Amino acid sequence: MTNKAVFLDRDGVINEIVYHREMGILDSPANPDEIKLLPDVGKAINKFKNLGFKVIIISNQPGIAKDKFTIDAFEKMKEKVRDELKKQEASVDGEYYCLHHPDGKNIDYKIICECRKPKPGLILQAAKEQDIDLSSSWMIGDGVNDIQAGQTAGCKTILLGRMKCDLCELLEVEGAKPDFIAPNLFKASLIIEEEERM
Ligand SMILES: [Zn+2]
Repeated sequence: MTNKAVFLDRDGVINEIVYHREMGILDSPANPDEIKLLPDVGKAINKFKNLGFKVIIISNQPGIAKDKFTIDAFEKMKEKVRDELKKQEASVDGEYYCLHHPDGKNIDYKIICECRKPKPGLILQAAKEQDIDLSSSWMIGDGVNDIQAGQTAGCKTILLGRMKCDLCELLEVEGAKPDFIAPNLFKASLIIEEEERM
């Protein structure tokens, strides 16, 4: 039987984005201590599963390519996410990461790949490996590239952000149009629950 899935971006969707006060910038976590789950993420993931979806992480992680963290730190961060989800009695069915960056400092990862969002490569790979029907699946993310990757793959999409959205202009420029906008993952799970009922 074919599966359906909710694909989730990781940073800013499952765990918090980190604010580096000294540099005044927001960035993805670079070590396990910086991994903190956003509210009600476990609850949202379990709702997706109760609705019959597989839940799969689809994430660009160029930190190794940019020499921001090591592969060991990357593995430990993945473990931390799993451990924190377990505390909320939740887990994911798969994790797919793009470690590449076209301008990377680390030569091993400095490539123009087919998996870095907005390209749909990771979603397509997950769909192939886990027998997923993309037209009955969703991509949820907080970035324009998540919406683009989801749309190109043929999924419905939800942008996490404010309703008066700061990304709207960029979305328009990029021709990316999320099916819905939700303030957080739990609210997104309620939208999908509602849509499934129709
Ligand atoms: Zn890649």
